[in-house]
Amino acid sequence: MTTSSKLIWLHQYAPDKPEVGQPCNGCGVCCAAEPCPVALFFLWQRTGRCQALVWDESQKMYRCGMLIQPSTYLVWLPLRWQSWFARRVRRWIAAGVACDSSATIE
Ligand code: SF4
Ligand code: SF4
Repeated sequence: MTTSSKLIWLHQYAPDKPEVGQPCNGCGVCCAAEPCPVALFFLWQRTGRCQALVWDESQKMYRCGMLIQPSTYLVWLPLRWQSWFARRVRRWIAAGVACDSSATIE
């Protein structure tokens, strides 16, 4: 088994990370630690904090920019395709389901 540690920065009002299997609360830990396959494939980002991670001040949680406004990151994506693409992203990242990050915060 391998373990690793890294320093990540989160908003001071970000919710605490839930346990694996609990509902995702937008804590942002997973996306601040490393890009997911969507970021890897569409944003060509291999390491570091995902460039599409967005802090939502009104809801006090992190959200996926590829889900809420993908054309901001994909200049080739026609605006009229934005909602279709967002629906695909929602399925790819399994948004709104249980937390699947085993990261622990110290
Ligand atoms: S999947 Fe887990 S770590 Fe990622 S934002 Fe949701 S609750 Fe946080
Ligand atoms: S694309 Fe969205 S779900 Fe994937 S790492 Fe970036 S912010 Fe997180």
